[in-house]
Amino acid sequence: MFNRLLRVDLSDQEFKKDRVEEEILRKFIGGKGVGLRLLVEEDTSNDPYDPSNPLIFVTGPLTGSTVQTSGRSAIVTRSALTKTFLDSHAGGHFGPAMRRAGWDYLLIKGASQEPVYLLVTPKGTEFGDAGDLWGLDVFETEKILRKRHGGSRVACIGQAGENLVRFAAVGTELFRHYGRGGAGAVMGSKRLKAVVVEGDEAIGFHDSDGLREQAVGLTRDLKGHPDVERRHELGTMMWIRMGQETGRFLPTRNFQKGSFEQYEGITAEAMKRELNWTSKGCYGCGVIMCSKVSRWDGREMEGPEYETTAFLGSGCELKDAREIAEANWLCDKYGLDTISTGVSISFAMEAAEKGLLGLEDNRRIRFGSAEAVHSLIREIAFKEGIGDTLAEGTRIASRRIGGGSDYFAIQTAGMELSGVNPLGSYSMGLALATGDFASHTRLWTATAEMNGELSLEELPRVIVEGQNEINARNCFIVCDFLPYGLDRLVLLLNAATGFEYTPDEIMEAGARMQSLSRMYNLRKGRTHEDDTLPLRFFEEESFAGLMEGKKIPRDLFEKQVQEVFSLRGWDEEGMPRPQTINELGLEPP
Ligand code: SF4
Repeated sequence: MFNRLLRVDLSDQEFKKDRVEEEILRKFIGGKGVGLRLLVEEDTSNDPYDPSNPLIFVTGPLTGSTVQTSGRSAIVTRSALTKTFLDSHAGGHFGPAMRRAGWDYLLIKGASQEPVYLLVTPKGTEFGDAGDLWGLDVFETEKILRKRHGGSRVACIGQAGENLVRFAAVGTELFRHYGRGGAGAVMGSKRLKAVVVEGDEAIGFHDSDGLREQAVGLTRDLKGHPDVERRHELGTMMWIRMGQETGRFLPTRNFQKGSFEQYEGITAEAMKRELNWTSKGCYGCGVIMCSKVSRWDGREMEGPEYETTAFLGSGCELKDAREIAEANWLCDKYGLDTISTGVSISFAMEAAEKGLLGLEDNRRIRFGSAEAVHSLIREIAFKEGIGDTLAEGTRIASRRIGGGSDYFAIQTAGMELSGVNPLGSYSMGLALATGDFASHTRLWTATAEMNGELSLEELPRVIVEGQNEINARNCFIVCDFLPYGLDRLVLLLNAATGFEYTPDEIMEAGARMQSLSRMYNLRKGRTHEDDTLPLRFFEEESFAGLMEGKKIPRDLFEKQVQEVFSLRGWDEEGMPRPQTINELGLEPP
């Protein structure tokens, strides 16, 4: 069973049990795909903060199984940051617990008059008074609710979500977050402080014995996989050294540079030493276990990850592991996406350097100042002073600040870029500009480019196929770090669903999602003008990768965007052509 849909209306405090139709499951698999399909059907909003914007918690057919890394879940909604499609993923135990509470999808619409939290169990849904929780941070909220509802799992917002910071996250298990795109702000607009799931129902799979048998084989093979040991030892933080020494794409000084002179203070090795790391896995992840628990100065936290370190660390030129860990802890506490927070702060630092802020902010907001970073995180969460402007994201902040600051507002279609500096990895720039939103979680081509395995000619095809595959993996849902392709994963999926997919059908489902999310995005205001990168990346020389020593030529970039469109069966503006819509089994817009 992976069709169980619970509909919740916060305005009327009603809930309704429903089922996702089998045809939708076949075409969209689960997770991101089914969430997208539900969003397109349900969302009549004029703005992400309209009560009619659905907030959809989704799991995949493998969620909660014994398959390694299958504990992940996602929130699908209209992004507060980009005002277009968002699927934001988190590890931890919330997804499996949601399935054990009886639900595969949880679709929340409406808005409550007063702060509320949901308690979802196999019996139904209760609307709990959250008056005593409103104003509390993520850590306090989760602790209180888990104590109040023993055996439960919690997803909640902190003050940033309550205050409608456009990149507010939804936290779970204290340090894990549905981080990107402002799902926390959408939750705050509904005055929904938390979702609590509780239950012990068995999760049903089509062929439980077959799935278990395959999961055992996967675990065995994973233990001997050559990529696993390094990822287990260093986690995502291994990318700091590689991005610096090999790739030269480490986002530094608000993307002005691709390497950071003081990077030795923020590498995985430095973090391990300074923060006394121990390894930890998400639910169902007992081999890779890339997460790191840090302990320092009386604090304990999971993280920092590479992205957090790249944007709150080298991006702002912080050179000390503990300073970055403290920034990470503050973001987790208030419920902020560490990536957009880091990029917004480094944007402010460059603006201050150019004298574009007020006198006092120009003086205090300096690259390298941990004091400024830590203070700005709080100011953003509570929308105080310049924090009120930065809380809108860099696209809107640059419009308010003016003075040509759009040149260094590092965003595409409203989303702060993540992953790498495109001046060190051109392929990532093209992938970010053509994704459903500009995140490294849509596709990671930096390794192949760094290793000289990509050519300019093949890049559009690589991007299209890669985006399709990641879309599919985000439906199952398995972690990006599981080092196996669709040929193997499809066997697991078939055991879970009984649908007998082929790898080609799965890739087609990924293409279907990309076209549907594109149609949705165009409907919600994205235009072809948004399919680009900030000015900085066309005006300054690349440090490494396919464009090393050159500026990215605009005409080549646009030509490659058009090649991506053409391979997808989209017109010059990026609208899927009628024939494509028909072939993919989609409804015309
Ligand atoms: S590999 Fe890391 S992120 Fe992926 S499931 Fe395991 S611990 Fe979580």
